[in-house]
Amino acid sequence: MGKAFVIDAARCNGCYNCQLACKDEHVGNDWTPYAKPQPEVGQFWLRVEEHVQGTTPKVKIHYLPRLCNHCEKAACIAACPQGAILRREDGLTLIDPEKCTGCGECVEACPYGVIYQNAELGIAQKCTGCAHLLDHGAKMPRCVEACPTEAILFGEEEDLIDEIRGAEVWRPETGLGPRVWYRNVPGTFIAGTLFDPEAREVVEGARCLLSNGGKNWETATDSFGDFWFRDLPAGIYELLIHAKGYAYKRVEKIRNENSVNLGDIPMERE
Ligand code: SF4
Ligand code: SF4
Ligand code: SF4
Repeated sequence: MGKAFVIDAARCNGCYNCQLACKDEHVGNDWTPYAKPQPEVGQFWLRVEEHVQGTTPKVKIHYLPRLCNHCEKAACIAACPQGAILRREDGLTLIDPEKCTGCGECVEACPYGVIYQNAELGIAQKCTGCAHLLDHGAKMPRCVEACPTEAILFGEEEDLIDEIRGAEVWRPETGLGPRVWYRNVPGTFIAGTLFDPEAREVVEGARCLLSNGGKNWETATDSFGDFWFRDLPAGIYELLIHAKGYAYKRVEKIRNENSVNLGDIPMERE
């Protein structure tokens, strides 16, 4: 067990307060032995990633704050020849700025790209979990305090067990045991609009059947002629459309990697 972060993508509105708060706490402030000052440019110990899916006008945007995962089997710790990175009892991993020689082995070893080289100081740096604050009475790291929507939670893993249930970690295939969990991360979507070119109007209530590798999804077009299939895994899809008074329509080999807007689809009358 130990400390954990839980980030809820459905609550994050992309305000960047957390990113700014982290900079405010660490740029120009020397928190040795926890961390030396973060440079003004070039480092984001917490970086808000913007994810844009689809194309205009069917576009969805979500945001994912990324920071060190304070991994249980941290690759950075194993890679450091100086023994400068340690995992505390509370689960936070810290780079000792006095021991670090700036060799860069940890930067190479971390598959998440969350360690930065400080060329001026000749050391590697990353999120400390704001351990300097926690050890002196603060309940939360600065990024958590700064979030206006409570999209970032922090605490003992056992206290966050309900939030962690069903959540996912960033790139689980690393096998490093990340301790930052993400909730409600949207999957991809396939969407489009059906219209009747003769009548010059949209087609409402059409049945849309989507399939991929033996799995099926079904929906109907709304009053704008739009259909949406949400939270889909990436893959190759086939779409079959049927509307009363119109010929069947099949759209094959829809390659869905980061959501697909099929645009305006004309329907031919029977
Ligand atoms: S995310 Fe990278 S830097 Fe952070 S503990 Fe894991 S391996 Fe180390
Ligand atoms: S815990 Fe502190 S150091 Fe880590 S991202 Fe949040 S504000 Fe930055
Ligand atoms: S402060 Fe909260 S809402 Fe704003 S970007 Fe960060 S996590 Fe999202």
